[in-house]
Amino acid sequence: MTRIYLSPPDVGPLERQYLLRAFDEGWIAPLGPDVDAFEEELSALCGPDVHAVALSSGTAGLHLALLESGVGPGDRVFVSSFTFAASANPIVYCGAEPVFIDADPQSWNMSPSLLEEALADAARRGALPRAVIVVDLYGQVADFERLGPLCDEYGVPLIEDAAEAVGSTRHGRAAGTFGSVGVFSFNGNKILTTSGGGALLARSQEAAARYHYLATQARQPVVHYEHVEVGFNYRLSNLLAAVGRAQLQRLPKMIERRRSIHAAYREALGDAVSFMPLADEGWNAWLTCVVFESRAKRDAVQRALAADEIESRPLWKPMHLQPVYEGVECWANGTSERLFEHGLCLPSGSALSDAEVERVILTISRSVQ
Ligand SMILES: *Cc1c(COP(=O)(O)O)cnc(C)c1O
Repeated sequence: MTRIYLSPPDVGPLERQYLLRAFDEGWIAPLGPDVDAFEEELSALCGPDVHAVALSSGTAGLHLALLESGVGPGDRVFVSSFTFAASANPIVYCGAEPVFIDADPQSWNMSPSLLEEALADAARRGALPRAVIVVDLYGQVADFERLGPLCDEYGVPLIEDAAEAVGSTRHGRAAGTFGSVGVFSFNGNKILTTSGGGALLARSQEAAARYHYLATQARQPVVHYEHVEVGFNYRLSNLLAAVGRAQLQRLPKMIERRRSIHAAYREALGDAVSFMPLADEGWNAWLTCVVFESRAKRDAVQRALAADEIESRPLWKPMHLQPVYEGVECWANGTSERLFEHGLCLPSGSALSDAEVERVILTISRSVQ
């Protein structure tokens, strides 16, 4: 029995062709024609006034976004609690302190009402955060109609962690364009992969130039090596950008396939489990997530899947329950904790065959009784 994975890379002849062309033409460097073209094509995907900067990872993008928002030692940064650790860790890289905000049960994204409470409390105490990082969880764009104005009201920059949301939209607007800066990830299990990589979406040419500079060791544009600031080695390799260009061409098809897998799960399992609530049709369907009525049921299904060589995973363990962030301030409402205990991510990769999806459905149907 072949093993079924959660979200393996979906790459083929086109990626191979682009990669080998870059290799054969000698562009084996963190710069080159494929990096430039990838940035242009990514910007075009996300709409007007978007300037993409290709980077070595999404984590690197969040780090630079925080630094450019002025985050430094002693600052506080609000961040979604229900997310992957990479959303919060860059706050610590800056010497700042995270404050976790729990999820809205209607979207699983940052709760606008909790953000409102936390901002009002911080303002009263004269301890407003230097930035707010809002995550687009499992590819679903967060409720920026409510989150954005709250950040504006208190004059706090909003960073969109759209690592999982490449290709998603909300009311027709592209993920990654809702904050002062947005960040994508192209890690191996993401919807569009370069094996490892990421990008940052800046809102002006000048901002993008500044990010390019910081990501290239903050080298001054002179012939010798001159530096007036500490920089980073955060640029994406041209070889990987070539893979990214092929993936970008195939993105609409990959999203379509993930959506059809999601629809198959809904149709077959809709009576036995509940699904992540969707607020907009523009979701990229990165991962199909289901919630069981009890933890025991969830665990039984996961065991059955594992026994049939099918990978599945509990939903993200909230940051406020992580040992590394013990004692950190958190505005909790129980949502992410409940989802962590009752939820499961199902195999959702665009390379899955219909027969494989059927195998997952059969195993779940048999074990959920
Ligand atoms: C994957 C991910 C990241 C980190 O991206 P990398 O490219 O792996 O560094 C950040 N935030 C979220 C929500 C992610 O899922």
